[in-house]
Amino acid sequence: MVTADAPIDATTHGGRAKCLQRLVRLDLPVPRTVALSFEAVRRIAGGEMPDMGALLAPFGAAPLLCVRPSSEDPDWGGPGAVLNIGMNDARYAVLSAQLGRAAAAALYQRFVQAYAVHVARLDPDMFEDIGEDGPEGLAEVLRAYELETEEPFPQEPQVQLAEVLRSMARAWAGTTARLLRQAKGAPADAGLGLVVQAMAFGMGQGECGSGVMQLVNSQTGLRQITGRYLPQSQGRDALQGGDAALFLERDARGASLEERAPEAFAELKQHAGLMRARLREEMQVEFTIEDGQVHILDGVRVARSARAAVSIAVALAEDGIIARQEALMRIDPRSLNELLHRQIDPEEECDILAHGIAASPGAASGRIVFTAADAQASAARGEPCVLVRRETSPEDIRGMHAAVAVLTERGGMTSHAAVIGRGMGLPCVVGASDLTFDLRLRTLGAPDGRRFAEGDVITIDGTNGAVIAGEARMLEAAQGDAFQTFMAWADAERDIGVRANADTAADAQTARNFKAQGIGLCRTEHMFFETDRLTVMREMIFADASEDRRAVLERLLPMQREDFIALFRIMQGQPVCIRLFDPPLHEFLPSDRAGHLELAEALDLPLSDVTRRVEALGEYNPMLGMRGVRLGITVPEIYDMQARAIFEATIEASREGDPVVPEIMIPLVSAKREVELVKTRVDAVAAQVRTQTGRDFAYRLGVMVETPRAALRAAEIAPHVSFLSFGTNDLTQMTYGLSRDDAGRFMSTYVQQGVFPEDPFHTLDTEGVGELLQIAAERGRAARPDLVLSICGEHGGSPESIAFCRDAGFDYVSCSPFRVPVARLAAAQLALLEKHG
Ligand code: PEP
Ligand code: MG
Repeated sequence: MVTADAPIDATTHGGRAKCLQRLVRLDLPVPRTVALSFEAVRRIAGGEMPDMGALLAPFGAAPLLCVRPSSEDPDWGGPGAVLNIGMNDARYAVLSAQLGRAAAAALYQRFVQAYAVHVARLDPDMFEDIGEDGPEGLAEVLRAYELETEEPFPQEPQVQLAEVLRSMARAWAGTTARLLRQAKGAPADAGLGLVVQAMAFGMGQGECGSGVMQLVNSQTGLRQITGRYLPQSQGRDALQGGDAALFLERDARGASLEERAPEAFAELKQHAGLMRARLREEMQVEFTIEDGQVHILDGVRVARSARAAVSIAVALAEDGIIARQEALMRIDPRSLNELLHRQIDPEEECDILAHGIAASPGAASGRIVFTAADAQASAARGEPCVLVRRETSPEDIRGMHAAVAVLTERGGMTSHAAVIGRGMGLPCVVGASDLTFDLRLRTLGAPDGRRFAEGDVITIDGTNGAVIAGEARMLEAAQGDAFQTFMAWADAERDIGVRANADTAADAQTARNFKAQGIGLCRTEHMFFETDRLTVMREMIFADASEDRRAVLERLLPMQREDFIALFRIMQGQPVCIRLFDPPLHEFLPSDRAGHLELAEALDLPLSDVTRRVEALGEYNPMLGMRGVRLGITVPEIYDMQARAIFEATIEASREGDPVVPEIMIPLVSAKREVELVKTRVDAVAAQVRTQTGRDFAYRLGVMVETPRAALRAAEIAPHVSFLSFGTNDLTQMTYGLSRDDAGRFMSTYVQQGVFPEDPFHTLDTEGVGELLQIAAERGRAARPDLVLSICGEHGGSPESIAFCRDAGFDYVSCSPFRVPVARLAAAQLALLEKHG
């Protein structure tokens, strides 16, 4: 029996049973309830029934009961509830007199149907044709049952209850149910409790009905009484009640419970408020009104969007119901992703062409392109584009980076486009098979016959799965007051810094909006892919002598300086870490004949010259070839130009506000001497700029640790630099000897067969790559105690990597701007866990 002091726990009887006990302790009008433990239900599944007489005893001589599942975590689900157990011919006759024939028939009919489907395992379709309600409908249902089972409907309540319990226990033990709950994180041996409760009729004389009430809006989390009430109904029927269902609070849109039964409404509101305060959670109250009397049947945690979850946690803390720290622990950092993206203004009337699967949240408008190459070209022109593909593959990654959204004809939640889109914060709709994708004619056909060609503008709503004609009005990411308050609380707790990887002014602005504490990685090469710069870049690559290269780079200098001035201005004195040029030069050269011809024309060279030079620059393994610092040493003019641009921008940006202290990072280092050589040149450029301008400035030099050798030799590198930042993308590639661009081919097989527990490019390999990080951190700090340590590979934003870096004593993590809030919260939770366990 669920009494105030019965030994009931969520780990032995399930979450629902525990919650009901809490409601009983609050003296709420909960119908009499008995909770069966996981152990008892396990025995039932094995054929060992409890003493049915004793089980039924608390419910009196003629019991009418319902049975509900009670798993440890309500999210793990369970078999559907069965209502009105105990209904039989005799009870029907008695209730007909008490409640009226129609109400009694409805109660009985509901039970017979549930019993037929859940216990006798009959096809639910067999009841579809029953047209009648009331006694005729009941008679028909009973006839159908008897015809199908060749047995009369069981009349004995004890038998009925035993069969219901047995079928629910067995359903939980079945393979399908087990797989379903395991997918939601339940352990293989998760138990099921069952709750047997006296029925409160929502049908009969006087005010009768049922409904659900909650005090907040599930989408926004704002205070608003939501839910429905349906007169003469049971269970959660009110939610399917259509027009017949009433609003709870007085509402301009229609009738309400408040008007119909003001006392019951007021009582319910009070109960819901008490539950919020005492259960320390926003609860959805399931209630029944029986002849004007309110009964509380159940309370479940209000279902909520990520945005609502934050508002609710903040409101509970602000009302003093929970501590701020607890509010912080209640939100899964990854769930913040949902509220960090732009959304279509819900007030906007959209011209929706079709729906697909909402695979990655957020919305964006752009011109249609059908290939990854076109997406890159469009981005280079500064035109936002939507990449439209049948499905995407790893070759499309660059195109996806270039696009503002992705639309595919095929695929599901775990298809390539969906997974990559979510990782990148790129709005994505997949499986939009109602649209006609004609990749040859380069058109997209809507079901209503309209055709959209390459270059036409569409909008992708990755939150709702809609594909919309034209441009839609957007709401910026939902960072309302609650979000800001919440993140400020997180910042007060955390003890590791969070910066953003940002290559452009737009990225930097996003980083700033998300309160990143600076830029941890600015990949400068992206700045050279813009069309006007690309040609100059190519000219530089083709220059024979150092002076010629220098002369060409002079033309890039002002552009780079402007890039950096913009970043410094946006970051307003916060640290900006600029990585010197990294990729192999051939990435800037055209790969086909038409491109070569175009280049020959632009540079006024014979085609054969161009082809020869492009071939000569080719490498067998470009990612292990002449790139990063190796280029810095063999073609030093590039780094000279970049250093000058950084220092001149520093002086310029420092005029207006706080002095800027830029950080310059050398990529792909593997030897101390590389650092010495680059440092000497960078120092020389700094001295020149100081002399030429008559202005002083400070800067910090650091190394990007992305080769295993640099990690191992950290002790001799550290004395030359003020920081080490771990580029775990390349470091993972080089530690495993595994190409980051080709791993996709076999990664899923490797993970499936347990060779790797996870894709190490997604989840930091704390054992191997992690050991290198630890070695480098220890050796580097031993050589230079004030050495600043950080991570700037893709792993930097994931909660597990942050835990690792924090334990290793890192100063900050740097991740893509959209992951900054996720990282801030994850870091706060780690600090709290350490403090409070
Ligand atoms: C890295 O290698 O981890 C890194 C951050 O640099 P990139 O991804 O540009 O190689
Ligand atoms: Mg790298």
